Amino acid sequence: MKRGATRAARSTVTFDPEGLTSAQRYGDACVVCLKRWPRPRVRVGVLPDESTVLACDDCAEALIPSPTATVVAFPTR
Ligand SMILES: [Zn+2]
Repeated sequence: MKRGATRAARSTVTFDPEGLTSAQRYGDACVVCLKRWPRPRVRVGVLPDESTVLACDDCAEALIPSPTATVVAFPTR
């Protein structure tokens, strides 16, 4: 039983700016799919200089499954 391990690992992810475009570095484009519209608005991590890295809703869900996403995945019937 190692269920607690994955939760403990949910700390802030630091992205390597080397692999990002300037738009991604400035938070203008999704860090995963480069989409600029709708604007990425989910904070998925930081850069080494502590700039915020943003992702669109879809990508953020894949990167960091949030508690709310779990609720959505199991709708009440
Ligand atoms: Zn995306």
